Amino acid sequence: MPTIPRLFLHHPLSSGMEVPGSADQAHYLQTVIRRDVGDDVRLFNGQDGEWDAQITALRRDRVSFTLLTRNREPSTEDDLWLVFALLKRDHTDLVVQKATELGASVIQPILTSRTNAARVNEARLGSIAIEAAEQSERLTVPEVRSPLPLSDLLEHWPADRPVFAAIERASVAAIRPHRGACALLVGPEGGFTPLELATLRRYPFVTPVNLGPRILRAETACLVGLALLRGAGLG
Ligand code: SAM
Repeated sequence: MPTIPRLFLHHPLSSGMEVPGSADQAHYLQTVIRRDVGDDVRLFNGQDGEWDAQITALRRDRVSFTLLTRNREPSTEDDLWLVFALLKRDHTDLVVQKATELGASVIQPILTSRTNAARVNEARLGSIAIEAAEQSERLTVPEVRSPLPLSDLLEHWPADRPVFAAIERASVAAIRPHRGACALLVGPEGGFTPLELATLRRYPFVTPVNLGPRILRAETACLVGLALLRGAGLG
């Protein structure tokens, strides 16, 4: 029995509806995994839950689906933001993919004094987040935001959302699970500068935390921090 493909659509979903997929989805279904008209798929759009559907038309660059029944009701996901200093392309890709799997709802790259990259390909990161959401059976796709300087982000930060700032070699408490809305902040490979550290400590919504005795690569710190913030259940 082949696995049923699970696809994200930018389209409202309701019973009996016929909805179009993208040219990429048509190519994937027809050429990569060799599906045909009448085959089953599962669809989600971030708002209307997940739906069983069938392929009703399939050509090289066009596909449409007919919706059958909803198999998962919409539900709210964790309100967990990841703020991380932009990394080299491959590492940024990895962070976006894994943070999606770990349930982040917003992924915000930042620019710090020691950040070595300045730009991202937002469309590409958006596609990575969609693929990871499809694969991990999430009902939503995280919002991947444009990079912002750390100082701008802090100035406009919603003060009721705690920020757990991962700071290595500091005598601060270990990161602990936090159930409500919050954010994890991870610095660049070179670490935050003394000035950035002093600035961070001035904001009442920032709590410095440590991630254990070893110095982790920034991408590892992002993933470990997200997992530890959500606790063992990762719910
Ligand atoms: N260059 C820095 C140094 O050698 O001291 C290390 C920076 S580390 C590779 C990159 C980021 O990961 C840090 O800015 C911090 O946010 C996070 N990080 C890594 N290990 C950590 C730890 N044990 N506790 C808290 N944060 C950590």
